[in-house]
Amino acid sequence: MKYRRLGQTDLDVSVIGLGALFLDRVGVDDAQRVVERAVERGVNLVQCAHEWGRNEELLARALSDGLRNRILLCGASEGQIDGARYMELMEQGLRRYRTEHYDLYMLANISNEARLSAVMAPGGGLEVLKRAKKQGKIRCLGVASHGSSKFVRQLVDCGEFEFVMVSYNVAEVHRESGHALDEDIGHVGQDVIPYAAERNVGVLAMKALGGGLLSPSISDPALRAVVSTPVSTPASLALRYVVAREDISSAVVGMNRLHEVEENCAVGDAPHALTTEEHRTLSDAVSGIRQTYCRGCHHCEHACPKEIVIGRILQWEALIGWPMHEQSIRRDYGELEHKADECIECRLCEADCPYGIDVVGGLRRAHKTLLSAHTQGVNRPLPARSETG
Ligand code: SF4
Ligand code: SF4
Repeated sequence: MKYRRLGQTDLDVSVIGLGALFLDRVGVDDAQRVVERAVERGVNLVQCAHEWGRNEELLARALSDGLRNRILLCGASEGQIDGARYMELMEQGLRRYRTEHYDLYMLANISNEARLSAVMAPGGGLEVLKRAKKQGKIRCLGVASHGSSKFVRQLVDCGEFEFVMVSYNVAEVHRESGHALDEDIGHVGQDVIPYAAERNVGVLAMKALGGGLLSPSISDPALRAVVSTPVSTPASLALRYVVAREDISSAVVGMNRLHEVEENCAVGDAPHALTTEEHRTLSDAVSGIRQTYCRGCHHCEHACPKEIVIGRILQWEALIGWPMHEQSIRRDYGELEHKADECIECRLCEADCPYGIDVVGGLRRAHKTLLSAHTQGVNRPLPARSETG
């Protein structure tokens, strides 16, 4: 496993990090084995957020047998505003992990001005976490953002954060956005990552596999067909595409299967640049994803005679398997006034979509998935290969 220095910190992080988002989709023992094997293979950066359901508990359990001291623990809190709440969650996490400190800690999902102002206000999350850092509970403080390139550069420039975590992948898709368009992700690679690295702000990558979209075993047959073409291990190539960049210290990847650990760690052993041929093959393989993945930009919705909120529905369908979203999506789809099955297939929206998305097909699939999730209270099966950030 290769290691890289994280910005100006004194931390050398493994180029492949372990994200704990989907540990709860396998049994307790399997989750433990995945964490143990990842550490054996040299992974030293392990990340979880307090809001990730049972995953923090599972990770804490997996680390309890001496592994905590062999890793750099990265905690995060997303969606909080209030400083006191940040402190409460952070302290609760420390107790759960039975540790005195986090090696890294992130204010997560700081993606727009309103959230940034809220956490930077007196008594907000930043003030509280800086105090925790002075008390030795946090070694280095960072921020995770799904915001535009301009906004993330602002986070770099504010001087408060030692590292940033951004979404970066070969397909230039972002599974959890609704506000980050292709251009933004493209700019992350060109403008944000080197910009941060030049200023000695460490860079961690999330969504290196497009939030699971670049997985060879993704449940959507159309996507599977796309990614299983000539590239034999598209996920490995897609991951190498990210970690070959020296200005990215680590890609934090969700893993909950042993074969994923082996495959990802093999990439971390030799994170060299793709050959021209590999790059071309991978680009061809993922090009279809760009036409299948709805960015949730809402641009097409004004054309719809049935007032269907197309972007929101298609994004929900992509996110229903994520623990922090499942309840709210189930509830919100149930309450939606115009559900996807009202679509009369006029295709007026498709004419207005700048990405050429098959809206009609997407809505059909989404309705089936979301309605079943709503009525049965269950998720669709998770892809065998998962991805987090
Ligand atoms: S195809 Fe369906 S979603 Fe698109 S504009 Fe027509 S009714 Fe609305
Ligand atoms: S279908 Fe196209 S235009 Fe409509 S929300 Fe999705 S990406 Fe935007």
